[in-house]
Amino acid sequence: MRETKIVKITDENDIRISELGGIIRAGGLVCFPTETVYGLGANAFDENAAYKVFEAKGRPSDNPLIVHLSDISQLETVAREVPEEAYKLFEAYSPGPLTVILKKKETLPAAVTAGLDTVAVRIPSHPIARALINAAGVPIAAPSSNLSGKPSPTKAEHVIADMNGRVDAIIDGGMCSVGVESTVVELAKGTVNILRPGGITKTDLLKVIDEVKIDRHVTEQVAEGEKPKSPGMKYKHYAPDAEVTVIAGDKQKTFDEIRSRITDDKETVIGVMCYDGFAFDAETVLYMGDDNISYAERLFDALRQFDLLGVKKVYAQFEEDEDYGLAVRNRLYKAAGGRVIHI
Ligand code: AMP
Ligand code: MG
Repeated sequence: MRETKIVKITDENDIRISELGGIIRAGGLVCFPTETVYGLGANAFDENAAYKVFEAKGRPSDNPLIVHLSDISQLETVAREVPEEAYKLFEAYSPGPLTVILKKKETLPAAVTAGLDTVAVRIPSHPIARALINAAGVPIAAPSSNLSGKPSPTKAEHVIADMNGRVDAIIDGGMCSVGVESTVVELAKGTVNILRPGGITKTDLLKVIDEVKIDRHVTEQVAEGEKPKSPGMKYKHYAPDAEVTVIAGDKQKTFDEIRSRITDDKETVIGVMCYDGFAFDAETVLYMGDDNISYAERLFDALRQFDLLGVKKVYAQFEEDEDYGLAVRNRLYKAAGGRVIHI
């Protein structure tokens, strides 16, 4: 355990950011808000700091970290080759929730990329994240700032619950707006392959790249012994204590289905996550907004809330779509451990 400084910052010009950047440059760990989820940041050029990140999270050492930059001009400080398509993508969607896999520069410590020859790079748009990278004066290696196996944090209270006593400082910068982790893509011969769906959607990518594929492990489970393109794909993601069942389909039909299941079960403490405008007679009803954009924003917080409230069974109303819906689906189906009913 170490003492963790908790600093509430609302303005990217706050002078305390320069001190927090100094902690990172000197090899310390600072949790900070981004537009996707909170990150657990370390100096990407300090191998020892990278080891500390894995230790603080309890993250398996073969799951690489994303390196965060504040500007496109810094790409070649961490990547030894930046293809034309990568510049196209970053010019269109950075700063923002897009991570691109590139060939790693030799000078970047192997611990950051978990020994891979490639590095995942992102330029976040959150003003405090950008100010922190600039203040640190080095690229920041940062996974999500949850304990491994917990949902990614979208509010400072989640970070404090998981990381207090494990890092040097936590910046409380309010709620994250996207709510799910960045879209991770790899480039191959003029095409883009989505390894993790997020806030930059297939439709967005198709505006700048002719062919966009979705890696099969985005929707299929990784089989025993199989080696997915992105190491993170093989790890079991967060499943709440409650048994989650996703009821997928049209909003009205899923509403009817969940309502009848609740009526039939008077014994269990039931929670529902649903779209706005639907009323359920359950102990805990968490509204996810009107669409899958707000669903993404609220999803991880809702999963943490169900656990805190001791809910035993959760029904998740969910209407699929190819854009934000794919990002929600990827996390929601994992939380449900495959219990998905399509109607
Ligand atoms: P997190 O930092 O928790 O958002 O996780 C980062 C994600 O990016 C994980 O799923 C990693 O497996 C993936 N990732 C990071 N670096 C690479 C890489 N070089 N190649 C493929 N996937 C990567
Ligand atoms: Mg994570």
